[in-house]
Amino acid sequence: MRPALVPTDCLPGLTDTHCHLEDSAFDPDRLAVLDRARQAGLVRLLLAGTDVTDSRAAAQCARQYPDFLRFAAGIHPHAASQADARALDALRELLADSQAVAVGEIGLDYFRDLSPRQDQRRAFLAQLALAREFHLPAIVHIRDAVEDALSMLAEAALPRRGVWHAFSGDAGLAERALGLGFYLGAAGPITYPRAASLREVFRRAPLDRILLETDAPYLPPQSDRGARNEPALAGEILRRLASERNLAPERMAAATRENANQLFGWE
Ligand SMILES: [Zn+2]
Repeated sequence: MRPALVPTDCLPGLTDTHCHLEDSAFDPDRLAVLDRARQAGLVRLLLAGTDVTDSRAAAQCARQYPDFLRFAAGIHPHAASQADARALDALRELLADSQAVAVGEIGLDYFRDLSPRQDQRRAFLAQLALAREFHLPAIVHIRDAVEDALSMLAEAALPRRGVWHAFSGDAGLAERALGLGFYLGAAGPITYPRAASLREVFRRAPLDRILLETDAPYLPPQSDRGARNEPALAGEILRRLASERNLAPERMAAATRENANQLFGWE
């Protein structure tokens, strides 16, 4: 993956509440990526885990930069078959860390079906129970599994709710997710030319329920499609959000930062 061309402009006070800085895609230059994130105005990044090993790596990374990074521990639906009792105990150990601010990323992905659906549902339920046990919000990845996900989330009745990561549904689905108390994650796809209806969803969503996410190294915004995404590109997503809503970028940055503080309990 070719690294993105990162612009040099800075928008102070940005938060990226979903990236995978621990991913091996960043092994060659993680420090430089962190530096560019700070230069772009990011003040906090949340690293989302995708399995036990990756969640441990995220925790390790967060420990090195306690002023800048937080992490979430979880098993992604693609890896759901790994979520046995031992793996769940390993997650418990990680979630007890004071820098762990969420359970994730967890969910259902019937589009890629990389784990059997039955395993996905079992892993999702078990990790929703962890979110209750640790009184933490959940970061959910849902693809082509909306009805199963909504009923499982409704039943889970999480005390701290969570965020629908990289939300890409229609207005009706947004309403149902918001109705469950969930935040909507705005990521790179809102910058794509053909995403007019998705932008419309984010234009209408309550300002106090939107989070800014890059999902780096995945989902680069329009200017760098095909490249390795990185947190320093969060500003492009933020500016698009702001212009859609006719808000100053600084105001939109403050809103998404306050929302992150609220949901993840950041200071
Ligand atoms: Zn992700």
